[in-house]
Order: sequence, then C-alpha cells, then structure tokens
Amino acid sequence: MNSAAGMSEAFAIAEVEAKKVQARISSDWSRRSTKPNARGVVRHPLFNEMDGRRTESDTWYCLHCNSKVSGHEIAKNLWHCPSCGASPLDIFSVPFWLEEGDDQPTPYRSPKKGGRGEPVIEVVDNRLRLELSEDNVTLLIRSALLDDAANAGERLGALLAEISFDEELGVWVTFETDYWPEEKEAIQARAVAKALGVSFDQDIVLCEPPFAWPGIAEFSSNTLEYTQTMLRAYAEQSTGQGKPNE
Ligand SMILES: [Zn+2]
Repeated sequence: MNSAAGMSEAFAIAEVEAKKVQARISSDWSRRSTKPNARGVVRHPLFNEMDGRRTESDTWYCLHCNSKVSGHEIAKNLWHCPSCGASPLDIFSVPFWLEEGDDQPTPYRSPKKGGRGEPVIEVVDNRLRLELSEDNVTLLIRSALLDDAANAGERLGALLAEISFDEELGVWVTFETDYWPEEKEAIQARAVAKALGVSFDQDIVLCEPPFAWPGIAEFSSNTLEYTQTMLRAYAEQSTGQGKPNE
C-alpha cells in the first residue's frame, strides 16, 4: 500500500480497533484511571498506596526509560509508557530509583506530528529489485549462452565460457575456441545484457579442451550422442584404428 489515501484509510481502521481494545481494557479500571480530573490527576490501575487506596498523581515516571509523563498522556496511552512502551508495572508516581546525582527524568512530549488522527506516514518501499551482482548477471548470461548454443559442443562452450561482470566494464565473455565457433555471435546473451542495461563484449581463447576431438561435439545434437560418439572414438583409437590429433 503506497498511496497516502490508502494509508489514512488503514490508520482509520487501526484507530477504531485501538478504541475497541481500549474500551475492553479500561472497563476493568476505575474511571479515574482513564479520565484525568480537572488538575490532570489520574489513578494507577494496578498500584495501591500503603492505605490500600489506588495511587493517584498528575505526573508519572517510567522505571524503564526514566521518562516523566503527564497524567493525561499516561491515561491516554493506557498506562504504557508513551516513550518506550513499558507496561503499567513500570509506571510509578515517584521516581524512587533515582539517587542524588542521577539524571533527572526526561519530560515526555507528545510528537507534534503523529498524534491522534495525524499519523507519521513512513512509506517503506519493500518491492523486490533485481540485484546486479556479478553472480546474478553471470548466471543470466550463461543461461542465455545456452539459448544461443545450437549443438552439444556449443552448450559445452557456454558452460566453459569465462564470464565476468563489472558495473563499469559490463559483461565480458571469453569463449574456448574448441567449443564455441570463433565467428559465432552470442545473440541471446547480448540481448540479455542489453535488457539489464550493461555492455557486452566477447573474445575467444585457445585452451586445452577437456575431451579429445572436440570437433565431434559440433555434429552432436545432444550430450548423449556426443558422449557415445566420443566413446567410440576413444575405443577405436585404443584398438589402434586411429589416434587423436592425427
Ligand atoms: Zn518508558
């Protein structure tokens, strides 16, 4: 939900719910716990004085964060600290925990904005974004190279290609010449780079191929066919009917 209108609608619903909760909680409390008198005095909903009467005061202190809160504010916030959210058990009429030399309690001031009916709307944009990390970019480029590959050999070429990505330099692909024809353009990979808004360059390098007779791969439509043809070639060569690189 991003629109301010949507936010204020959500806030209105939340406000109604909060009032219902407030009504439920405060139905157990004496009226003086939720309604300050003319001098701003409210009655603690839980704590008693020594004589058994509920503690009353126009000023309250939070044991948790050392805030000084008016009777109006603490009642409005259902006896939870408006500053830190501490429960009514942490709210006292006297800051008995303070000793001489300690910092004085900080008077709580309700924020100018964000009071009732005027929410501070912080729009957090949590939409997912494609992160252009090297891992992500190279993965997409390699996938696109597989789209470009027309046979088992070129698929191996796509898998063996060295892909690097740098925000400044863009994508750089180095193919092994044995498995990726020197003149072959990586059309899909280039298109993916363009879609990502990064530049694309390719070059080629001569490496030691992982299997003998890499040229067989070019004529194999799938990996099984390539493997079987290659196995036959190895077998023939071991029976003396041919030698690699002959
Ligand atoms: Zn507090």
